[in-house]
Amino acid sequence: MAKSKSFLANLFRIATPAAVLALTPSLYAEEDMTKPEIKVEKKKDADGRESVFMYIDGVKVHETDTTKQPLPPVVSPGKVRGAPPSDAVVLFDGSAESFSANWTDTKGDTSKWKVADGAMESVRGAGYVQSKKKFGSCQFHIEWASPSKVQGSGQGRGNSGVFLMGTYEIQVLDSYQNETYADGQAGALYGRSKPLVNASRKPGEWQSYDIIFHRPLFDKDGKVKRRATFTVLHNGVLIQDHTVLSGGTGWRGPHAASDYRAHPDKMPISMQDHGNPVRFRNVWVRPLKD
Ligand code: MG
Repeated sequence: MAKSKSFLANLFRIATPAAVLALTPSLYAEEDMTKPEIKVEKKKDADGRESVFMYIDGVKVHETDTTKQPLPPVVSPGKVRGAPPSDAVVLFDGSAESFSANWTDTKGDTSKWKVADGAMESVRGAGYVQSKKKFGSCQFHIEWASPSKVQGSGQGRGNSGVFLMGTYEIQVLDSYQNETYADGQAGALYGRSKPLVNASRKPGEWQSYDIIFHRPLFDKDGKVKRRATFTVLHNGVLIQDHTVLSGGTGWRGPHAASDYRAHPDKMPISMQDHGNPVRFRNVWVRPLKD
């Protein structure tokens, strides 16, 4: 094949040497082509041969100059699965000191939740706990266990919840052979998105959520510029696959969920007191770029 008709030349429609062109928009009819910004340039490579260079957001593909393309920082993973990596903000390590240092009730006062056997436990009537530190977009890890003695059914069985930004609930529920509405079972974005599968362990067994959350963005008038997204693993199983949250998860009657309401860029993470003694441990967070 002649060089001028090579696949790359056709793909990028390079007409003139050194021309800087965007990718052909018609190839991506339904995609937003503005990000990342892709440019290609025809110029001489290190051996003096004419070659095609691609740039992604201004950085050359396979750039070796680390002032232009810094290497990712080194992070040491935890020694056992689920243990906090070296750059995590640990919000609860199982100790009473860690609990009192990082958590309060929703008024900012000392929480009446129990701490025992390396876990914090929801106490009926004590209200939610919330983190003293505030977070927006983040990676969040938490382990939880519903009571081993099964009491109640449906939403009344091992109910709690993890609220990112104190607002968006990933349901915590004993969903092991416990039927309830799909968008209210464990791992649901409450009232908005059911989990892809039910990966629940038995009552009393420790379970984990690993959550990648990107906060919603609001304009100056409080209108939603970008909705929140959730990717969630339940016990290592994907249950929310970059789910776009269609609105608020708050309870507004049996069949209505609340819509977005503008809020600050960072807010506490909270866990729900729904009247059931649900336990939590090994809570850590890694803030992410929006
Ligand atoms: Mg709940």
